[in-house]
Amino acid sequence: MEEKSIFEMILNREIESEIIYEDKEIFAINDINPVAPIHVLVIPKKKIRTINDVSKDDAMLIGRMVLTAQKLAENLNIDESGYRLLWNTNKDAMQTIFHIHLHLIGGTQLKAI
Ligand code: AMP
Repeated sequence: MEEKSIFEMILNREIESEIIYEDKEIFAINDINPVAPIHVLVIPKKKIRTINDVSKDDAMLIGRMVLTAQKLAENLNIDESGYRLLWNTNKDAMQTIFHIHLHLIGGTQLKAI
């Protein structure tokens, strides 16, 4: 069986991390190495290795992840000031955890990409 991802370990409370949001399909944590004052990871409980592995069956889940990020941005008061959502996929994007996660980044003026 494939090794558990860090996120599965956090979800199973095998690794300590404050879960700032949780529902039946999705949870969110603060990134341990934030690149901005607000850096949250929105994570599906279902382990999908990369965005390449997302299927049509996951369309609702992906949509709910975006809506969760939208809600968290509002709760964190950065919806109007602005934020960036991003998914890293594989080596060139420097994906390090092979369990998809949506980065929600904001709370400061970000550099253009
Ligand atoms: P990525 O490079 O897109 O795979 O992003 C993985 C992210 O997970 C990085 O921004 C890391 O800082 C973050 N990370 C790694 N371990 C933990 C942890 N235990 N708790 C919270 N965030 C973590």
